[in-house]
Amino acid sequence: MADHYEVLGVSRDASEDQIKKAYRRLARELHPDVNPAPEAQERFKLVTHAYEVLSDANSRRQFDMGGQDPFGGAGGFGFGDIFDTFFGGGGQRGPKSRAERGQDALIRVELTLQEVVFGVAKEIEIDTAVICETCSGSCCRPGTSMALCDICHGTGQIQRQVRSLLGNVVTSQPCGTCRGYGQVIPEPCLDCRGQGRVRARRSLDLNIPAGVEDGLRLQLSGQGEVGFAGGPNGDLYVDVTVKEHDVFGRQGDDLTCVISVPMHDAILGGLTKIDTFDGAAQVEIEPGQQTGDIITLKGKGVQRLRGSGRGDLKIRVQVVTPSKLDSKQRELIRKLATMRKSDSIKLVQQSHGFFAGRRKH
Ligand SMILES: [Zn+2]
Ligand SMILES: [Zn+2]
Repeated sequence: MADHYEVLGVSRDASEDQIKKAYRRLARELHPDVNPAPEAQERFKLVTHAYEVLSDANSRRQFDMGGQDPFGGAGGFGFGDIFDTFFGGGGQRGPKSRAERGQDALIRVELTLQEVVFGVAKEIEIDTAVICETCSGSCCRPGTSMALCDICHGTGQIQRQVRSLLGNVVTSQPCGTCRGYGQVIPEPCLDCRGQGRVRARRSLDLNIPAGVEDGLRLQLSGQGEVGFAGGPNGDLYVDVTVKEHDVFGRQGDDLTCVISVPMHDAILGGLTKIDTFDGAAQVEIEPGQQTGDIITLKGKGVQRLRGSGRGDLKIRVQVVTPSKLDSKQRELIRKLATMRKSDSIKLVQQSHGFFAGRRKH
């Protein structure tokens, strides 16, 4: 068990006043608002605990007599544990830190399909909380600083002796004056009214990787609101929605589209050009191309979000039957029909027919 006199750095016959002074000096140095290092916080707890024991004449006498620690020493099933079990007291000892983590924020960004294919950098504006520049998050007017709370002497807790079935016990409650922080702000910063942060509009460069899907949520850690009293930032979440494109669709990493091919081109084959996100691309129609056939342009799809390379552009062929023929054209077709007498209209198995071709698309 820690020797409370050593912890406070006072002799065993130190006066009440000396103990109080020693505590105040250490608290000013170790308080979580001043010194956020974990070791400092541990020491602060020890120091506060030592002060709790030695500042009360009864508990000091008990401690002097046999090292009996009335609050339960480090390790073992201490008094504090029993107390919490019986009375449901908030087990927290020592002041709480004023600095709090900021809130997470959520924004929506709408992208075009083209932006999805290649990725995009966007500058966006968010309404958020940023650190107060006047006080740098300290909450205090420049030139002033936090002061130890006079009521709880920096512990953030007020102790009261009450009688209970365990005998006299000490209950602790958050100090009302400092709201449990152990420190008060004598002169709050005027710009943030002692909050350490202000509302502001902030612009942010958002790099959206290629290949994101509609409905995806990106997490940007530390880009949310700054916390109270210089606490760490929350995270920013970006919900991505993708606008529908008039011509192109998307299936996984592939892009899809449909081209209409005049009957004679479908019969004889030919070359055509279509506009893609990569510019004009040549498409080859094979002789005898059917409705539902898929022509694949390799690597003209969406950049893969995970992995490298791009998907393909899948072009579905739709053969257009001419509906307005003049008499000369009709005569030619009639001649062709006579020459291909063996062709006839018949039922086909669906797996080889139109719908199968369409499903593949
Ligand atoms: Zn301020
Ligand atoms: Zn207080």
